[in-house]
Amino acid sequence: MDILWAPWRMKYIEYTKIEKSKTCFICEAIATKKPEEKLVLYKGRRSILLMNLFPYNTGHLLAAPLRHVSSFNELSKDDLLSLQLLLRSAINLLEKTLNPDGFNIGINLGRTAGAGLEEHLHIHIVPRWNGDTNFMPVIMNTKVIPEALQDTFRKLRAGCSILED
Ligand SMILES: [Zn+2]
Repeated sequence: MDILWAPWRMKYIEYTKIEKSKTCFICEAIATKKPEEKLVLYKGRRSILLMNLFPYNTGHLLAAPLRHVSSFNELSKDDLLSLQLLLRSAINLLEKTLNPDGFNIGINLGRTAGAGLEEHLHIHIVPRWNGDTNFMPVIMNTKVIPEALQDTFRKLRAGCSILED
């Protein structure tokens, strides 16, 4: 690899070392008075949508229940419905704003499965474009994001009136 600019990876490595199990970044995003600083796109009745600070791709979003729980069994039926409505509207927002060719949507339950934050359940929504894996060094777990997070945030924020939960 010639050039790799992904400063958030270093932050992530530091974050996981220092902040492990001390703070919950989703609960911080729920509580913040400055949603733009935490990249919060939507906070609804029962769910929240925010951008991943350590994205796998441009427009990588996280949808989570407002309640700090780690398993589906701890969510009510209303919580689950809210999360699915938010997921659906987030996909619509990404399609409208960033015009992706597809999505990877997934949940990592437990640290063994790759959850960076296992204490607060969240759904990853990763838009995909044809050819975006061409130079993606999967093995190295690093990837160059072509757009800065704040630019993407502003674009998504402009269309976020369609979000619901
Ligand atoms: Zn939490």
